[in-house]
Amino acid sequence: MLIAGNWKMNKLRDEASVLVGEIVGGVRRHDEVDVAVCPPFVYLDMVVSACRESGVDVGAQDLYYETEGAYTGEISPPMLKSLGCRYVIVGHSERRNLFGETDRIVNKKLRAAYSAGLIPILCVGETLEQRDSSRAFEVLNGQITYGFEGIDDECIANTVIAYEPVWAIGTGQSASAAQAEEAHAYIRERVKDFTRGAIADSTRILYGGSVKPENALDLLKQQNIDGALIGGASLSAKSFCEIVRIAKALK
Ligand code: PEP
Repeated sequence: MLIAGNWKMNKLRDEASVLVGEIVGGVRRHDEVDVAVCPPFVYLDMVVSACRESGVDVGAQDLYYETEGAYTGEISPPMLKSLGCRYVIVGHSERRNLFGETDRIVNKKLRAAYSAGLIPILCVGETLEQRDSSRAFEVLNGQITYGFEGIDDECIANTVIAYEPVWAIGTGQSASAAQAEEAHAYIRERVKDFTRGAIADSTRILYGGSVKPENALDLLKQQNIDGALIGGASLSAKSFCEIVRIAKALK
């Protein structure tokens, strides 16, 4: 089980410092549930320091696919690794929809993450229009197939997938446990189709989209849901730590 918080573009420096302090204080170290926070780039160094020895891992929200050079404003995978990041979110729907990130770019970013020794959290998910026109699975299939194109099994085994229906992100309207479970089972089948061995069985598939303490239990107890990627509720240490406790109680 992995519970990861995506702070997105929120919190000023002092607020970020208080939030990570409260999370570190509120999350007891335990083997059953892995916990990670993904702050904005500018706070990574501070957050990594605050999380040292706490059992809370740190991830970045994005990366660029080149290792160094004339790419003004971008952040390379080795930079993230050198700061102490364990995870990096790749292909979040906000990157796809607001910044034009295509599956081809996502594929390059995944490869760059593996090369640097980072664990990517690959986000996939359909829009409301795609769901309403019965194309949700087709969209998931495309995002997974093109995202993983040419990537070997060993790397896929080292990937976390997050199913994040776009219509559920930041809207307060989570997918139902049954809708999420259906999509997760489909994603696992797709991973099974193009990997060998038991990789798909152990692939962590997180649910993301308006997860909060009130709906976490229902979602996390589904067979194919292996954790959560949390946006809004991760900005409150109380809510985030409560979700971690719910996950732990399920184990
Ligand atoms: C997210 O953006 O990854 C997310 C799941 O956001 P929220 O929890 O706010 O819906």
